[in-house]
Amino acid sequence: MAVVRALGRRGRVFAVLAAVAPVPFLVGGTFLAHAYQHQAEDRSIAQGVGQATVVAQLLSNEVTFKDPGRHNGLEPAETQRLDTFAEAQIGKGTFLRLTVINPDRTVLYSSDPSGENEALGENPDTVRALAGRAGGHLVTADAGGATTAGGDRQVLSVSAPLHDPNTQAELGIVEVRLALEPIPLAVLLDRDRAAVIAAVIGLGVVHLALVRRVSRAFVQARARAAQAEHRATHDQLTGLPNLARLQERFEEALSTEGADGSGAAIVLIDLNRFQEINDALGHQNGDLLLIELAGRLSTGLREQDLVVRLGGDTFALLLPGVRERAQIESTLARVRAAIEAELTLEGLPLHVEASLGVAFGPSDGTETAVLLRRADVAMHSAKRTRTAVVYYESQQDKHDTDRLALISDLRRAIDRDELVLHFQPQVHQRDGRVHCLEALVRWQHPTRGLLGPDLFVPIAEQTGLIDGLTEWVLHRALTELRRWRITRPYLSVAVNVSARSLHDFTFPQTVQDALFQIGMDPQWLLLEITETALVTDAARAALVLGHLRLAGLRLSLDDFGQGYTSLSQLSALPFNELKIDKGFVMNMLRNRNDAAIVHLIVNLAHNLGLEVVAEGVENDEILRELVVLGCDITQGYHFSRPLPADQVLTWLTAHDGEPAETEASGGTVLREV
Ligand code: C2E
Ligand code: MG
Ligand code: MG
Repeated sequence: MAVVRALGRRGRVFAVLAAVAPVPFLVGGTFLAHAYQHQAEDRSIAQGVGQATVVAQLLSNEVTFKDPGRHNGLEPAETQRLDTFAEAQIGKGTFLRLTVINPDRTVLYSSDPSGENEALGENPDTVRALAGRAGGHLVTADAGGATTAGGDRQVLSVSAPLHDPNTQAELGIVEVRLALEPIPLAVLLDRDRAAVIAAVIGLGVVHLALVRRVSRAFVQARARAAQAEHRATHDQLTGLPNLARLQERFEEALSTEGADGSGAAIVLIDLNRFQEINDALGHQNGDLLLIELAGRLSTGLREQDLVVRLGGDTFALLLPGVRERAQIESTLARVRAAIEAELTLEGLPLHVEASLGVAFGPSDGTETAVLLRRADVAMHSAKRTRTAVVYYESQQDKHDTDRLALISDLRRAIDRDELVLHFQPQVHQRDGRVHCLEALVRWQHPTRGLLGPDLFVPIAEQTGLIDGLTEWVLHRALTELRRWRITRPYLSVAVNVSARSLHDFTFPQTVQDALFQIGMDPQWLLLEITETALVTDAARAALVLGHLRLAGLRLSLDDFGQGYTSLSQLSALPFNELKIDKGFVMNMLRNRNDAAIVHLIVNLAHNLGLEVVAEGVENDEILRELVVLGCDITQGYHFSRPLPADQVLTWLTAHDGEPAETEASGGTVLREV
């Protein structure tokens, strides 16, 4: 065994093949030897037949049968002549024994009357020879050629017709026993020694070459099979195992009795804003990011844990031997830290976050597919609620089903004209009038009623439908604005722009096309960009923003105070205004810190030469406080909820007191879903 082990895989395959491969040679050789023997026998018989025919001729010349076909034996002189003939031929070794048989199949003469002759009449060769054709066969005989059961030699019994040389009359038949001298194999080998040695060496060389070739092909085939098996169970980009391996290991984990009994957690990890990174930095860099994260995820886990890539920007962890969240919280904290640690792509520092969904087996399911789906539901809940980690709970399923249904409906919503724009006025403190209205999209869903943007804008962003949505909003908002500006030519409209558009170099052209088609000057369009949109690729966003600003548009940094914009970044970006996140504004009377932040932002904006907007102004006290702080523009339910387009002019007339067309008044309340 040690020797076999020492040979290595390739050596072992070679040894086995070398041992096994000669078997077909041996089988074939044996078969050929048999065939050769048969052929040799046939050839001996053919030779014997010729010999017997010659004997028959000699005999008919030598001995004159006076009375052919007679039954009463030969005359003594005839017997005498036959004896002389037989004796001379046996002495020369022509044959071993001679027998003459009458046409009636009785024995007329035998050189060895003591030998067995009775059966000759019935011999098929006799019958054939009487019919005129010579033939023979092998018999076991004694030294004299007589057939014996225990005889030690093989002789040839050949029968040939006997004719009168003058009249050609049929005289009977001659049977001769001929010594058969088969050439033994050893003699053959000895005679052709050089040829045999050459053949054996040649065959050996061919054999070894064949075995070497076959063993190499065999080893290569094994390696290819191993590669194919690796491909089937691993992700090609990151080299991590894939779903197939997760499935296998999950089933093992549930059937293994660990210290805490069987159990396992599946954690689904989906990167946030990966699509934007891909769009902004290209797929190649997106791939590099995934490879880097795959490496990070794999470190810091226990040996029995498994990291797999399920596809795209989705990874999964299998943590065997756990049943509840307390057991994995510290692991997940480490995983998150590994993902969020800054990385550099193309020289740009990048900050990546992920949403994690967790499901436990067996409590949330015993099949991999079920547990994965539930972890996925939890992960989407994490995305929706902007929470880092969400553990599966059954009520999340409802949300998920709704979400899936919404995705398919949303694809049709734009074409079916189901989207609706509402507008919320922004009041300028310097004259108390509305100079701008923010366009806020809603979806008049055929069965669910009016849906707010939080329910479908994130889905549009994830599914790539956001570009069409933004374009639709731009056209509709500018069309409404053109109508309002007939009576109020100082009005402008604010449109919210998704982070994705900010990384798209063609976006400025899209905006300019819309302005051109509607016939609107760019200064009347304000684009609101959420602060967190600047996180992914600030450098690229800055380029797109610069382009927009150069085109004459105004830019607002929305929900300011939530994100990570550094002060130096802020001063370098071409914004016209800062919009304080409404969370601070709504809480500023109750929470001193929030009030301090609002104060700080107002001062910061003014120091940077920017206007400052406060949204979320829900009551008069907040408004008064903002006025004291010096806020330039205010927006909120205190003035108006977002209004359907056809109610805007009426509302403006009521608020700003200028003449306008007659319209119904009142805001809308969004349905809670
Ligand atoms: P946002 O741009 O910060 O819009 C302000 C949100 O605050 C609006 O919610 C508005 O209805 C709400 N709001 C205004 N005043 C008050 C107030 O006094 N109290 C309270 N509690 N809320 C107030 P809405 O319409 O649900 O929009 C939510 C977000 O959806 C928007 O936040 C914006 O980020 C996004 N969004 C809306 N329309 C669009 C759009 O056309 N495109 C894109 N990409 N995003 C949009
Ligand atoms: Mg906004
Ligand atoms: Mg906002």
